Amino acid sequence: MCHALLQAPKFLTLLLRIDHEFAAQCRADGCRCGGNLHCADYPRKPRGCPRSMRDDYSSRLSFCCAVCRTRSTPLSVRFLGRRVYLGLAVVLVSASRTAWTAAGAHLGAELGVARQTLQRWQAWWTEQFPLTPLWRATCARFMPPADVLGFPGTLLERFTGSPADSLMRLLVFLSPVTLRSAGAAAVEVFEGR
Ligand SMILES: [Zn+2]
Repeated sequence: MCHALLQAPKFLTLLLRIDHEFAAQCRADGCRCGGNLHCADYPRKPRGCPRSMRDDYSSRLSFCCAVCRTRSTPLSVRFLGRRVYLGLAVVLVSASRTAWTAAGAHLGAELGVARQTLQRWQAWWTEQFPLTPLWRATCARFMPPADVLGFPGTLLERFTGSPADSLMRLLVFLSPVTLRSAGAAAVEVFEGR
């Protein structure tokens, strides 16, 4: 069952490894000015994270240019923008409200997600997410068209494989969502470039 993945060290370690791969790529690309990037991670206190993984999830990887001081923050499968809950928790709790209501009704309560937070997430999935450059750049690739009103449950269903595989692939797909240049990055990630 998908929900167990929230507590699965192996899965959470896999997400950490993907974030480090994104970071290595970002660092290798360097700054636009040609300067080297230095580590300048953002401290995070993520909610929805098992105690055993807290140290590994206590920062969002980021870089600062040694020359012009511009920030470069790589894509992440662990964090969905600035939300305090892990991206994984945002997806699973939101999906449990749509696709698996009976099975997952208590997940949000277990994680202490406030009702207003849950309503905000639902509105984001069904109203704001469909307007993002990420979704606009990729929605035509989902055939038949995805049922936006059932997001993220109906989106998760489109990523096939084991529960871990499909969730991991959805998180990779979502990773560019908070970038300003999300359209181009989304297509790159989606096509595995
Ligand atoms: Zn620079």
